[in-house]
Amino acid sequence: VTSHPLRVVIVGSGVLLPDDAHRSSGHWVSAEGGPAGEAPFRMLLDCGSGTLHGMARDALPWAELDHVVLSHFHTDHMGDLVPVLWALRWGIDGGRTRPLHLVGPEGLGMRLRGLADGFGSWLLEPGFPLHAHEVPAGGRWRNEDAGVDLVAHAARHTPEALAWRVEARGTRVGYTGDTGPLPALGAFFRGVELLVAECAVPDDQAMEIHLSPHELAPMAEAAAPTLLVTVHHYPQLDRAALPDLLRAAGYSGRVAVGHDGLALAVGPSAVRHLSGSPED
Ligand SMILES: [Zn+2]
Ligand SMILES: [Zn+2]
Repeated sequence: VTSHPLRVVIVGSGVLLPDDAHRSSGHWVSAEGGPAGEAPFRMLLDCGSGTLHGMARDALPWAELDHVVLSHFHTDHMGDLVPVLWALRWGIDGGRTRPLHLVGPEGLGMRLRGLADGFGSWLLEPGFPLHAHEVPAGGRWRNEDAGVDLVAHAARHTPEALAWRVEARGTRVGYTGDTGPLPALGAFFRGVELLVAECAVPDDQAMEIHLSPHELAPMAEAAAPTLLVTVHHYPQLDRAALPDLLRAAGYSGRVAVGHDGLALAVGPSAVRHLSGSPED
């Protein structure tokens, strides 16, 4: 049994603005088979534009992808869903039999049908089993075979927006999706080893539906992750200053400013950098 069973790669650390070095939101979480016979899994948390090509850039086995988990229905979080399905349908030598689980907020099925209206019915019957699972805020979805649980908490962004906790192999990863300040998320993420959190805007541009450093700091301090990774930075936020801003605002734990390609090995009580710059 490895001491760091989960692999997490920040595929897209950016926002909607075109920036090849900071693509839209997409975060890879994977594990090999578990000690109790659990199957391997390869998961994306969000699937914004740039995620498909970003997985290739980061040498991730995109053809093996079997879970896509959406936080909400903004294009910077799901814009590459159709390209990913297209690549899985047509881009794999010999075709694909592995099922794909799409997990997201209520309204996911309706949106898939709308995408199929636009791009063709292949999208709902791509030649491999495609399962859509709508999870309400406060709900939970489990893949028994892979030994992975997804726990949803309402986020403060859009009516459907969810924050997610991924639990597998005795290890927990938290992901805020997009959210404004919401103290309940500190408790929801309490004890996660890795917290991937949006920090979109500078403090002087704080808003209801995104986090600034002063708003993220108390939530992260309450969550007390082994490592905090910040993502979803708008250009006006000074990335280099972010660790100091978070500390000044009361966060006392470890922090790394997320960038595309940042790869981490995550275990029950430790997070190790695999590639990308070391944490600040
Ligand atoms: Zn959004
Ligand atoms: Zn966003």
